[in-house]
Amino acid sequence: SMASPTLLMRVVASAYSVAEKAATIVRKVMAGGDLGIVEKSGANDLQTKADRLVQMSICASLARKFPKATIIGEEELPPEEVNEELIEDGYCEEILKKTCPAQYTGIKEEELVIWVDPLDGTKEYTEGLLDHVTVLIGIAYGGKAIAGVINQPYYNYEAGADAVLGRTIWGVLGVGAFGFQLTEVPAGKHIIVTTRSHGSTLVNDCIRALNPDSIIRVGGAGNKIIQLIEGKASAYVFASPGCKKWDTCAPEAILHAVGGKITDIHGNSFQYNKEVKHMNSAGVLATLRNYDYYASRIPNTVKQSLVP
Ligand code: AMP
Ligand code: MG
Ligand code: MG
Repeated sequence: SMASPTLLMRVVASAYSVAEKAATIVRKVMAGGDLGIVEKSGANDLQTKADRLVQMSICASLARKFPKATIIGEEELPPEEVNEELIEDGYCEEILKKTCPAQYTGIKEEELVIWVDPLDGTKEYTEGLLDHVTVLIGIAYGGKAIAGVINQPYYNYEAGADAVLGRTIWGVLGVGAFGFQLTEVPAGKHIIVTTRSHGSTLVNDCIRALNPDSIIRVGGAGNKIIQLIEGKASAYVFASPGCKKWDTCAPEAILHAVGGKITDIHGNSFQYNKEVKHMNSAGVLATLRNYDYYASRIPNTVKQSLVP
Protein backbone atom coordinates (compact mmCIF):
# COMPACT_ATOMS: atom_id res chain seq x y z
CA SER A 1 0.00 0.00 0.00
CA MET A 2 1.01 3.63 -0.41
CA ALA A 3 2.94 5.27 2.40
CA SER A 4 0.92 7.90 4.25
CA PRO A 5 1.68 11.45 3.12
CA THR A 6 4.49 13.33 4.87
CA LEU A 7 3.94 16.48 6.92
CA LEU A 8 5.24 18.69 4.08
CA MET A 9 2.90 17.20 1.50
CA ARG A 10 -0.05 17.53 3.90
CA VAL A 11 0.82 21.19 4.49
CA VAL A 12 1.00 21.87 0.75
CA ALA A 13 -2.21 19.93 0.07
CA SER A 14 -3.96 21.87 2.82
CA ALA A 15 -2.53 25.21 1.60
CA TYR A 16 -3.94 24.44 -1.85
CA SER A 17 -7.47 23.97 -0.49
CA VAL A 18 -7.09 26.95 1.85
CA ALA A 19 -6.00 29.14 -1.12
CA GLU A 20 -9.07 28.04 -3.12
CA LYS A 21 -11.30 29.04 -0.22
CA ALA A 22 -9.41 32.36 -0.10
CA ALA A 23 -10.20 32.94 -3.78
CA THR A 24 -13.93 32.55 -3.13
CA ILE A 25 -13.65 35.21 -0.40
CA VAL A 26 -11.72 37.58 -2.71
CA ARG A 27 -14.47 37.25 -5.34
CA LYS A 28 -17.32 37.54 -2.83
CA VAL A 29 -15.99 40.77 -1.29
CA MET A 30 -15.62 42.33 -4.76
CA ALA A 31 -19.08 41.18 -5.80
CA GLY A 32 -20.48 42.68 -2.58
CA GLY A 33 -19.26 46.09 -3.69
CA ASP A 34 -17.97 47.38 -0.33
CA LEU A 35 -14.18 46.91 -0.29
CA GLY A 36 -13.65 48.59 3.11
CA ILE A 37 -10.38 50.20 2.01
CA VAL A 38 -7.92 51.27 4.73
CA GLU A 39 -4.62 53.08 4.03
CA LYS A 40 -1.64 51.49 5.81
CA SER A 41 1.60 53.49 5.27
CA GLY A 42 -0.05 55.65 2.56
CA ALA A 43 -2.27 55.81 -0.51
CA ASN A 44 -0.18 53.20 -2.34
CA ASP A 45 -0.24 50.76 0.58
CA LEU A 46 -3.84 49.60 1.01
CA GLN A 47 -5.79 46.97 2.89
CA THR A 48 -9.32 45.88 2.00
CA LYS A 49 -11.94 43.72 3.67
CA ALA A 50 -10.72 40.91 1.40
CA ASP A 51 -7.12 41.21 2.70
CA ARG A 52 -8.48 41.01 6.27
CA LEU A 53 -10.97 38.16 5.82
CA VAL A 54 -8.60 36.08 3.69
CA GLN A 55 -5.75 36.42 6.17
CA MET A 56 -8.07 35.30 8.98
CA SER A 57 -9.25 32.37 6.87
CA ILE A 58 -5.80 31.20 5.81
CA CYS A 59 -4.03 31.66 9.13
CA ALA A 60 -6.80 30.16 11.27
CA SER A 61 -7.30 27.19 8.90
CA LEU A 62 -3.59 26.34 8.75
CA ALA A 63 -3.05 26.96 12.49
CA ARG A 64 -5.85 24.54 13.35
CA LYS A 65 -4.22 21.74 11.36
CA PHE A 66 -0.57 22.64 12.02
CA PRO A 67 -0.53 24.36 15.43
CA LYS A 68 3.25 24.15 15.91
CA ALA A 69 4.16 25.76 12.60
CA THR A 70 5.02 29.48 12.55
CA ILE A 71 2.55 31.38 10.36
CA ILE A 72 3.38 34.97 9.38
CA GLY A 73 0.70 36.97 7.58
CA GLU A 74 1.05 40.41 6.00
CA GLU A 75 -1.83 42.13 7.77
CA GLU A 76 -1.77 43.31 11.38
CA LEU A 77 -5.21 42.37 12.70
CA PRO A 78 -6.69 42.66 16.19
CA PRO A 79 -6.93 39.23 17.83
CA GLU A 80 -10.50 37.98 17.43
CA GLU A 81 -12.48 34.77 17.16
CA VAL A 82 -12.53 33.60 13.56
CA ASN A 83 -15.98 32.77 12.19
CA GLU A 84 -16.28 29.01 11.49
CA GLU A 85 -17.45 29.86 7.97
CA LEU A 86 -13.92 31.07 7.22
CA ILE A 87 -12.29 27.74 8.14
CA GLU A 88 -11.21 25.41 5.31
CA ASP A 89 -10.62 21.79 6.23
CA GLY A 90 -9.77 20.09 2.91
CA TYR A 91 -6.67 18.61 1.32
CA CYS A 92 -5.91 18.50 -2.42
CA GLU A 93 -5.84 14.75 -3.16
CA GLU A 94 -3.53 15.13 -6.18
CA ILE A 95 -0.85 16.66 -3.93
CA LEU A 96 -1.22 13.98 -1.23
CA LYS A 97 -0.45 11.35 -3.90
CA LYS A 98 2.91 12.91 -4.90
CA THR A 99 6.13 11.52 -3.44
CA CYS A 100 7.86 13.80 -0.95
CA PRO A 101 11.56 14.42 -1.72
CA ALA A 102 13.77 12.37 0.65
CA GLN A 103 15.42 15.46 2.17
CA TYR A 104 12.02 16.71 3.40
CA THR A 105 10.50 13.53 4.82
CA GLY A 106 11.78 14.18 8.37
CA ILE A 107 10.59 17.79 8.69
CA LYS A 108 8.90 18.57 12.02
CA GLU A 109 5.92 20.89 12.27
CA GLU A 110 7.77 23.39 14.49
CA GLU A 111 10.49 23.70 11.82
CA LEU A 112 8.10 25.14 9.22
CA VAL A 113 7.54 28.85 8.62
CA ILE A 114 4.52 29.72 6.47
CA TRP A 115 4.49 33.18 4.83
CA VAL A 116 1.02 34.40 3.89
CA ASP A 117 0.11 37.26 1.55
CA PRO A 118 -3.69 37.05 1.69
CA LEU A 119 -4.11 39.31 -1.33
CA ASP A 120 -1.14 40.38 -3.44
CA GLY A 121 -1.88 43.27 -5.78
CA THR A 122 -4.34 45.07 -3.50
CA LYS A 123 -3.90 48.40 -5.28
CA GLU A 124 -4.85 46.73 -8.57
CA TYR A 125 -7.77 44.91 -6.92
CA THR A 126 -9.23 48.27 -5.87
CA GLU A 127 -8.77 49.56 -9.44
CA GLY A 128 -10.49 46.60 -11.11
CA LEU A 129 -7.34 45.06 -12.61
CA LEU A 130 -8.57 41.77 -11.26
CA ASP A 131 -6.24 39.28 -12.94
CA HIS A 132 -3.24 40.97 -11.26
CA VAL A 133 -4.45 39.65 -7.91
CA THR A 134 -3.03 36.50 -6.30
CA VAL A 135 -3.20 34.74 -2.93
CA LEU A 136 0.26 33.60 -1.79
CA ILE A 137 1.12 30.84 0.70
CA GLY A 138 4.87 30.15 0.92
CA ILE A 139 6.39 27.34 2.99
CA ALA A 140 9.93 27.66 4.32
CA TYR A 141 12.24 25.18 6.06
CA GLY A 142 15.82 25.85 7.15
CA GLY A 143 15.43 29.45 5.96
CA LYS A 144 14.67 28.38 2.39
CA ALA A 145 11.43 28.63 0.39
CA ILE A 146 10.72 24.97 -0.39
CA ALA A 147 7.06 24.94 -1.40
CA GLY A 148 4.38 27.38 -2.43
CA VAL A 149 0.84 27.93 -3.61
CA ILE A 150 -0.28 30.82 -5.83
CA ASN A 151 -4.01 31.18 -6.40
CA GLN A 152 -5.19 33.61 -9.10
CA PRO A 153 -8.89 34.19 -8.26
CA TYR A 154 -9.69 36.02 -11.50
CA TYR A 155 -7.69 33.96 -14.00
CA ASN A 156 -9.82 33.81 -17.19
CA TYR A 157 -12.23 36.52 -16.02
CA GLU A 158 -12.21 38.13 -19.45
CA ALA A 159 -12.33 34.82 -21.34
CA GLY A 160 -16.12 34.51 -21.46
CA ALA A 161 -18.78 32.70 -19.47
CA ASP A 162 -17.64 29.22 -20.61
CA ALA A 163 -14.13 29.61 -19.18
CA VAL A 164 -13.36 28.29 -15.70
CA LEU A 165 -12.72 31.26 -13.41
CA GLY A 166 -9.59 31.14 -11.24
CA ARG A 167 -6.69 28.71 -10.91
CA THR A 168 -4.21 27.39 -8.38
CA ILE A 169 -0.51 26.95 -9.14
CA TRP A 170 1.60 24.98 -6.66
CA GLY A 171 5.13 23.69 -6.43
CA VAL A 172 7.63 21.87 -4.22
CA LEU A 173 11.41 21.83 -4.73
CA GLY A 174 12.36 18.44 -6.11
CA VAL A 175 8.77 17.66 -7.16
CA GLY A 176 8.07 20.39 -9.71
CA ALA A 177 5.36 22.99 -10.25
CA PHE A 178 1.83 22.39 -11.52
CA GLY A 179 -1.35 24.15 -12.57
CA PHE A 180 0.09 26.06 -15.57
CA GLN A 181 1.96 25.39 -18.82
CA LEU A 182 5.68 26.14 -18.42
CA THR A 183 6.67 28.37 -21.37
CA GLU A 184 9.85 30.26 -22.25
CA VAL A 185 10.11 33.70 -23.85
CA PRO A 186 11.30 33.46 -27.50
CA ALA A 187 15.11 33.14 -27.62
CA GLY A 188 16.92 36.49 -27.67
CA LYS A 189 13.89 38.51 -26.51
CA HIS A 190 14.41 40.68 -23.44
CA ILE A 191 11.08 41.53 -21.86
CA ILE A 192 11.10 43.05 -18.37
CA VAL A 193 8.13 42.90 -16.01
CA THR A 194 8.00 45.40 -13.16
CA THR A 195 5.71 47.33 -10.83
CA ARG A 196 2.88 49.53 -12.12
CA SER A 197 2.00 51.29 -8.86
CA HIS A 198 5.29 51.47 -6.90
CA GLY A 199 7.65 53.01 -9.45
CA SER A 200 10.56 55.36 -8.78
CA THR A 201 13.44 57.00 -10.62
CA LEU A 202 15.73 54.19 -9.48
CA VAL A 203 13.27 51.50 -10.67
CA ASN A 204 13.17 53.14 -14.11
CA ASP A 205 16.93 53.86 -14.29
CA CYS A 206 17.66 50.21 -13.60
CA ILE A 207 15.29 48.99 -16.31
CA ARG A 208 16.66 51.48 -18.84
CA ALA A 209 20.22 50.22 -18.20
CA LEU A 210 19.08 46.68 -19.14
CA ASN A 211 17.90 47.97 -22.54
CA PRO A 212 14.89 45.61 -22.88
CA ASP A 213 12.89 45.04 -26.07
CA SER A 214 9.76 45.83 -24.07
CA ILE A 215 8.48 46.49 -20.55
CA ILE A 216 5.33 45.04 -18.92
CA ARG A 217 4.00 47.03 -15.95
CA VAL A 218 1.62 44.96 -13.81
CA GLY A 219 0.71 44.68 -10.14
CA GLY A 220 1.62 41.90 -7.75
CA ALA A 221 4.75 39.87 -7.06
CA GLY A 222 2.79 36.63 -7.59
CA ASN A 223 1.47 37.90 -10.90
CA LYS A 224 4.96 38.83 -12.06
CA ILE A 225 6.32 35.35 -11.34
CA ILE A 226 3.41 33.96 -13.39
CA GLN A 227 4.55 36.21 -16.28
CA LEU A 228 8.01 34.55 -16.04
CA ILE A 229 6.84 30.93 -15.95
CA GLU A 230 4.32 31.42 -18.75
CA GLY A 231 6.80 32.99 -21.18
CA LYS A 232 5.36 36.52 -21.11
CA ALA A 233 8.44 38.14 -19.56
CA SER A 234 12.10 37.18 -19.28
CA ALA A 235 13.02 39.10 -16.10
CA TYR A 236 11.23 40.62 -13.07
CA VAL A 237 13.27 43.67 -12.11
CA PHE A 238 12.35 45.85 -9.09
CA ALA A 239 15.18 48.12 -7.88
CA SER A 240 13.36 49.35 -4.79
CA PRO A 241 12.51 48.36 -1.25
CA GLY A 242 8.80 47.69 -0.67
CA CYS A 243 8.42 44.01 -1.46
CA LYS A 244 8.27 41.73 1.64
CA LYS A 245 9.01 38.10 2.48
CA TRP A 246 5.33 37.09 2.08
CA ASP A 247 5.47 38.51 -1.47
CA THR A 248 8.46 36.40 -2.52
CA CYS A 249 8.25 33.11 -0.55
CA ALA A 250 5.58 31.23 -2.56
CA PRO A 251 6.73 32.72 -5.90
CA GLU A 252 10.35 31.77 -5.10
CA ALA A 253 9.48 28.14 -4.33
CA ILE A 254 7.52 27.77 -7.58
CA LEU A 255 10.15 29.54 -9.70
CA HIS A 256 12.98 27.48 -8.18
CA ALA A 257 10.97 24.27 -8.65
CA VAL A 258 11.11 24.85 -12.42
CA GLY A 259 14.78 25.89 -12.55
CA GLY A 260 14.41 29.68 -12.31
CA LYS A 261 16.19 32.03 -9.93
CA ILE A 262 15.18 34.94 -7.66
CA THR A 263 17.49 37.14 -5.57
CA ASP A 264 17.78 40.73 -4.46
CA ILE A 265 19.33 43.18 -6.90
CA HIS A 266 22.85 42.30 -5.61
CA GLY A 267 22.39 38.59 -6.21
CA ASN A 268 21.82 37.67 -2.54
CA SER A 269 19.30 34.88 -1.95
CA PHE A 270 16.33 35.60 0.34
CA GLN A 271 16.05 34.00 3.80
CA TYR A 272 12.70 32.94 5.23
CA ASN A 273 13.42 31.89 8.83
CA LYS A 274 10.95 33.33 11.33
CA GLU A 275 13.37 35.91 12.76
CA VAL A 276 14.22 37.47 9.38
CA LYS A 277 13.48 41.11 8.55
CA HIS A 278 10.25 41.28 6.53
CA MET A 279 11.34 43.90 3.98
CA ASN A 280 13.27 42.87 0.86
CA SER A 281 15.21 46.13 1.14
CA ALA A 282 17.51 45.50 -1.83
CA GLY A 283 14.77 44.84 -4.37
CA VAL A 284 14.08 41.83 -6.59
CA LEU A 285 15.68 40.23 -9.65
CA ALA A 286 14.02 37.06 -10.97
CA THR A 287 14.23 35.04 -14.18
CA LEU A 288 13.18 31.65 -15.48
CA ARG A 289 16.31 31.44 -17.68
CA ASN A 290 19.44 33.57 -18.31
CA TYR A 291 19.65 35.01 -14.79
CA ASP A 292 23.33 35.93 -15.31
CA TYR A 293 22.55 38.03 -18.38
CA TYR A 294 20.41 40.39 -16.26
CA ALA A 295 22.44 40.20 -13.03
CA SER A 296 25.64 41.19 -14.85
CA ARG A 297 23.95 44.29 -16.31
CA ILE A 298 22.53 45.82 -13.09
CA PRO A 299 24.43 49.14 -12.77
CA ASN A 300 26.70 49.62 -9.74
CA THR A 301 25.01 52.96 -9.07
CA VAL A 302 21.70 51.10 -8.62
CA LYS A 303 23.31 48.52 -6.34
CA GLN A 304 24.88 51.26 -4.19
CA SER A 305 21.42 52.81 -3.68
CA LEU A 306 19.90 49.59 -2.29
CA VAL A 307 21.29 48.37 1.02
CA PRO A 308 20.24 44.77 1.86
P1 AMP B 1 4.06 45.69 -7.07
O1 AMP B 1 4.96 45.12 -8.11
O2 AMP B 1 4.09 47.19 -7.05
O3 AMP B 1 2.67 45.15 -7.16
O4 AMP B 1 4.67 45.24 -5.68
C1 AMP B 1 4.80 43.88 -5.32
C2 AMP B 1 4.48 43.70 -3.84
O5 AMP B 1 5.32 44.52 -3.06
C3 AMP B 1 3.05 44.12 -3.50
O6 AMP B 1 2.60 43.33 -2.44
C4 AMP B 1 3.20 45.54 -3.02
O7 AMP B 1 2.21 45.92 -2.12
C5 AMP B 1 4.58 45.50 -2.36
N1 AMP B 1 5.24 46.79 -2.51
C6 AMP B 1 6.15 47.14 -3.43
N2 AMP B 1 6.55 48.41 -3.28
C7 AMP B 1 5.86 48.90 -2.23
C8 AMP B 1 5.82 50.15 -1.55
N3 AMP B 1 6.58 51.17 -1.95
N4 AMP B 1 5.01 50.27 -0.48
C9 AMP B 1 4.24 49.24 -0.07
N5 AMP B 1 4.23 48.03 -0.66
C10 AMP B 1 5.02 47.85 -1.73
MG1 MG C 1 1.91 41.53 -1.73
MG1 MG D 1 -1.05 41.69 0.29
